[in-house]
Amino acid sequence: MEIAKKISEIREAVKAMKKQDVTIGFVPTMGYLHKGHLSLVKHSLAECCKTVVSIFVNPTQFGPSEDYDRYPRDPVRDAELLKKEGVDLLFMPSVEEMYGKDFFTSVEVSSLAEKLEGSLRPGHFRGVCTVVCKLFNIVTPDNAYFGWKDAQQLVIIQKMVNDLNIPVKVKGCPTVRESDGLAASSRNIYISADKRKNAVALYKGLSKIKDMVENMGITATDVLLTEGRESIERFSGVELQYLEIVEMDNLNPIKKVEDRALILGAIKVSGVRLIDNMMVEMKRVTSQ
Ligand code: AMP
Repeated sequence: MEIAKKISEIREAVKAMKKQDVTIGFVPTMGYLHKGHLSLVKHSLAECCKTVVSIFVNPTQFGPSEDYDRYPRDPVRDAELLKKEGVDLLFMPSVEEMYGKDFFTSVEVSSLAEKLEGSLRPGHFRGVCTVVCKLFNIVTPDNAYFGWKDAQQLVIIQKMVNDLNIPVKVKGCPTVRESDGLAASSRNIYISADKRKNAVALYKGLSKIKDMVENMGITATDVLLTEGRESIERFSGVELQYLEIVEMDNLNPIKKVEDRALILGAIKVSGVRLIDNMMVEMKRVTSQ
C-alpha cells in the first residue's frame, strides 16, 4: 500500500492508476478506524479495481468548543489495518497541505445543512462539504463510499454532487453496530465503562419507532416520537438532543409515515455526543 502525504504525490499515484483504465473507489475518513470504516473499505474493494482511503481530521468541521484537539488519532495502526484489507493508496495530508495560508472558499448546501445536526453544530456541514469537495477534486474517484451512520452527511453530499455536477457516484453503506446495537464510532472510546450500558438508549428508541411503524402499522409521527422519546429518556444519564422523523431527500419533518422515512436522533451520554438513525419503510399490503 502506497502512502501519500502531499497532494502532488496522490495526484501522480492516481494518474498511474488511471493509465490502467481501472475503476477507483474512495473512502474518506477521519481515522481511528473501526469496523464501520472497514465495511466501507470492503464495499469499495468489492466494487472497484483500486481503493483509495483518506485519513484527515478536518479542523473546519469542528466548532470552537468541540473536540478537534482531543479527537482520537492512531495513524500507524490505521495504516496497518488498511494494508491488511488490501487498500491500494492511503492519503494522509497535513492541515497545511489541505488549507493553504489564504483559504477563502467554502461549499455550502444551504437549508439541508441547517437542520438536525446543523442546528446544533453551525458550520459543521460547510466544513464537511468543503473538505469532501476538495478530496473529490484531488482523488478524482469513480465511486465514493459513505456510511448511513451519518445519514444527514450522506444526503447532503449526494445533493452537493448532484448540484455541482461532480462526476463521482456516491454510495451509501449500512451502519455497522456493536452486539448490543450501539453504532460503531471513533467517539465510543470516550464513553466511560459505567455509562456504556446507557449509550444504547438511542438505538433502543429508534428500534422502538421502527417496530411501531413496520410491525404495528402506526404512522402518526407525533405518537411515534412520544414513544421514542420515552424509551430514550428511560435510560439514566442520557440527554436527548433531538429526535425527528423526516423525508429522505429533503430532511423535512413529516406528520405521517407514508412510504419511506428517516428517523434521526442525537443524545449525550456522560458528555459524549452520539448520533444514530434508522430508515423505516411502510410495508405495502398487496391485495389480489
Ligand atoms: P469519520 O471517520 O467519522 O468521518 O467517518 C468516515 C466514514 O465512515 C463516514 O462515511 C461515516 O459515515 C462512516 N462510518 C462511521 N461509522 C460508521 C458505522 N458504524 N457504520 C458504517 N459507516 C460508518
